[in-house]
Amino acid sequence: MRYAIIGDIHSNLEAFEMVLRDADVKGGFDKIWCLGDVVGYGPDPNECIERLCQFEHVCVAGNHDWAAIGKMDTADFNPVAAQACQWTAQQLTAENIEYLQNLPLSICQEDFTLIHGSPREPIWEYLLSLEGAQDNFSHFETTYCLVGHSHVPLIFELVDSKVVYEMFPEGAELRLGERRMIINPGGVGQPRDGDPRASYALYDTEARTVYHHRVEYDIQATQKKMTELGLPAPLILRLSVGW
Ligand code: ZN
Repeated sequence: MRYAIIGDIHSNLEAFEMVLRDADVKGGFDKIWCLGDVVGYGPDPNECIERLCQFEHVCVAGNHDWAAIGKMDTADFNPVAAQACQWTAQQLTAENIEYLQNLPLSICQEDFTLIHGSPREPIWEYLLSLEGAQDNFSHFETTYCLVGHSHVPLIFELVDSKVVYEMFPEGAELRLGERRMIINPGGVGQPRDGDPRASYALYDTEARTVYHHRVEYDIQATQKKMTELGLPAPLILRLSVGW
């Protein structure tokens, strides 16, 4: 089996389409594992949900997915994120609201747990520090955990009960062994590691390897749509710099 591991699409259809195309070129996939935040920030919330639903997939809930359907308050969002969230809420069709409503907080697939934020705080916690990762290894049962939310591709590995941390560089081939890991494939629709290209991973169960890929997409096309829809300028500009 081959899985496409994608997270944080954030209503960016151009980025999502290029990831799908690139994944096809790089050997294809049987199923998508989606790490949440399908919507929020970008211009195509309905289209992104509907495109995802064309594939065999599983998906967990992210903070933006919940906020867009009123399942969570936007009081803790920064003002531009809250504004985009309110706009998203007005666009969503009844069917897509129901889709988001039914997303679970975590899903186990093979020997992976899929979660948006972190195992102990599935919706909210950003896993970016060694301390945070260390505490989270006791909050999931499987050998490996996949997370999104920070939009930064990285790997936390448990080595003799101590966590080590490394970036997950483009083109890296992560061979799975006995050590437990928390892996973030980076963000599709709003990368935040200084590289504006869409970020995702492919997992080949036979090779026991997770491959990390980046792909260019038409950022200007997404930005043009956002401008025309009146979405906040900082959200438009950040796509150019990957932050
Ligand atoms: Zn996100």
